[in-house]
Amino acid sequence: MLSFDESEDQKLLREALSSLAINFPETYWRLHDGKGEFPQEYFDALASNGWFNLNVPEELGGTGMGLSEVSIAIHEMSKDCGMSAGDILMAICVFAIQTIKTFAREHLRRRLLPELGAGKHVMSFALTEPTSGVNILDIQTTAKREGDGYVINGQKIWITLAHKASLLNVVARTTPKGEASKRTEGLTLFLVERAALKRGQIRADRIDDISMRALGSNNLYLEDVFVPEDNILGQLDRGWEVLPALLNAERISTASMSVGLGQLVLRKATEYAKKRTVFDRPIGSNQAIQFPLARSKADLEGAWAVAQRAAWEFDHGEDCAVSANVAAYMGARAAFFAADRAIQTFGGLGYAKSTDIERHWRDSRLFRTGPVPEEMVLNFLGQRVLNLPRSY
Ligand SMILES: Cc1cc2nc3c(=O)[nH]c(=O)nc-3n(C[C@H](O)[C@H](O)[C@H](O)COP(=O)(O)OP(=O)(O)OC[C@H]3O[C@@H](n4cnc5c(N)ncnc54)[C@H](O)[C@@H]3O)c2cc1C
Repeated sequence: MLSFDESEDQKLLREALSSLAINFPETYWRLHDGKGEFPQEYFDALASNGWFNLNVPEELGGTGMGLSEVSIAIHEMSKDCGMSAGDILMAICVFAIQTIKTFAREHLRRRLLPELGAGKHVMSFALTEPTSGVNILDIQTTAKREGDGYVINGQKIWITLAHKASLLNVVARTTPKGEASKRTEGLTLFLVERAALKRGQIRADRIDDISMRALGSNNLYLEDVFVPEDNILGQLDRGWEVLPALLNAERISTASMSVGLGQLVLRKATEYAKKRTVFDRPIGSNQAIQFPLARSKADLEGAWAVAQRAAWEFDHGEDCAVSANVAAYMGARAAFFAADRAIQTFGGLGYAKSTDIERHWRDSRLFRTGPVPEEMVLNFLGQRVLNLPRSY
């Protein structure tokens, strides 16, 4: 029978996460955002309560759940605590656990998945480069064969949490573009373990930016970094076949974060619109204030429905590319609209750090630009789904 209800397990998951979230109020995140400081206490609380084990397979001591439950967890934490809280779950459960359990060699899975479940690692996904931009096939980072491994050289940009990460998923070119038999061949994903680094250097420089400042993004320099062959994720030269699974899971996660954050700001704006009185009546009785809040409700419901569908498709091994892209696109726009209208509802107070609206507004803007800019989603839909001519 078709059901749109969350299961009993999923409801319990929400309740448990929600009671953990109470310990991390807006003041906690405001402080960490202000200082650009990692929310270690929050990370430790997730680890000690077993939340990173959510999608670790049962035979390795995990809960064995899928991306649907991970996306619910990301949504719940973003709804209660904001985007950085959800993003940490994405870094561990999606970038790390989902990728390693699907694409790493068996001995690495057996060692690293329980460690990740216990909160022993932070992992970053290092794809973007300064010169290639959204054209992944143009990346300049190389990995050259040497002995029983590969030596990586190159520069990445915007790599979230790279200054904290003990594990990195680095995308590099293993066959030069001109020599590859197919346009999409020649890229390889490498699992780099910093603690096991026998040769080479990895350096991360924080970028002073405006979004999710508690986590932070970095320029990342890789110089002569030796990685054993066993640390290839998927197959040599066939990174292009691994990336869709990773990027779709990432899009479902960012959609879940966006919807959660949108609901957080909508809740705050609605409460404020009911109590703030100007011209002897609550500002929420003016349609100019009320309708955008109502529209936000509609936009967020729509984005969440598509995100859940995408997660369901992902867990059932179906092609989720369209739903994942649409969910990321709708979610990002809905969150930004909701945050923008929350500023309008709060008036001048929307600019005061003490109301936290400006922080959520800064964060809500991110997913319109990265990890996938909305233009690239529209390119994908126009070309691959509507079969329109390639526009670039
Ligand atoms: C805070 C933050 C955190 C990030 N974290 C990570 C991370 O952890 N790991 C990682 O690998 N990356 C990360 N990124 C990078 C992010 O994914 C990229 O910034 C994003 O994909 C855009 O790439 P770009 O900045 O190189 O833009 P560019 O490629 O320079 O593009 C600039 C603009 O031009 C548009 N454009 C380009 N080509 C076309 C076209 N053909 N048609 C229409 N429009 C086009 C783009 O959509 C974009 O709007 C992060 C970025 C930020 C800001």
